[in-house]
Amino acid sequence: MDIDERIRTFDLDRLHASVAESHDGEVDRSVPEHADADTGLFGLAVCDRSGELRSVGDADVTFPVQSAVKPFVYALALVDAGASDLDEIGIEPTGEAFDAVRLESDTGRPPNPMVNAGALLTASLVAGGSAQERSDRILQGLSALAGRELRVDDEVSRSEHLSGDRNRALGHLMHSAGTLHVEVEEAIEVYARACAVSVSAETLAVMGATLAFGGRNPMTGDRVLPVEVVRSTLSVMATCGMYDGSGRWMHRVGMPAKSGVAGGVVASAPRHLGIGVYSPPLDERGNSVRGVLACERLADDLGLHAFTVA
Ligand code: GLN
Repeated sequence: MDIDERIRTFDLDRLHASVAESHDGEVDRSVPEHADADTGLFGLAVCDRSGELRSVGDADVTFPVQSAVKPFVYALALVDAGASDLDEIGIEPTGEAFDAVRLESDTGRPPNPMVNAGALLTASLVAGGSAQERSDRILQGLSALAGRELRVDDEVSRSEHLSGDRNRALGHLMHSAGTLHVEVEEAIEVYARACAVSVSAETLAVMGATLAFGGRNPMTGDRVLPVEVVRSTLSVMATCGMYDGSGRWMHRVGMPAKSGVAGGVVASAPRHLGIGVYSPPLDERGNSVRGVLACERLADDLGLHAFTVA
């Protein structure tokens, strides 16, 4: 049986039931909306080459996308720059936490687009003459990637804004280094609104699938991103997407992925599958415990690790 056949016939319910047995991890407490999350919520969704979306559990429950938005904002910034690389930003993993207040020492650039410093910058590089225009452009881009109309949770965005001191510190550092070309508050505003976009495991699965199929949304059939932009995006997800757990993740799971502190994980198995998971309890690195487990099992059971050479 080839991979696509295995995907079509895979018992998703069984995998969901076995991963649901894990009760490890703690919910994020950086904003009240996360602290109140039900730790039992667990949704899993996959979207395959034919655009078929299969899901189990709480896969249509919405939550803030948080850092899982970073690859997509990076992709939109690349599209708007008409490039597959940005001079303003590095592409090296940090081995540090997502909110580390650290820039490249010689250049003052953020180390990569998957940590907060990088995403603050990519959000400011998306086309638009104001925070509102950039936010609208991001929301419209994310909606095309997801194949459905997405919205911003204003309350989460406000909380994010209020609790963003470390992000403000990063903004000021980048502004003084000459890397950030908009006002710090404008960058924070666009970033906070991007993090506060409401998604579900199903939404993330389709967004992951759009990357997996080279920028063509398999559900709508629309080309949303150019192939070169997708290649760059998947590359930084593979090397930097799971923060200081990225090396272990690539070794173990072998799929580009990105997590967010509300408990979302988006993964993309190039040419085969988009995966979306939601479960709020996080490990010490800020990655959803069940999200990591579900991706590990899917990679093993379906043979999705990129470097499995059979
Ligand atoms: N809102 C969070 C922040 O900027 C996003 C972090 C995350 O999901 N890892 O701190």
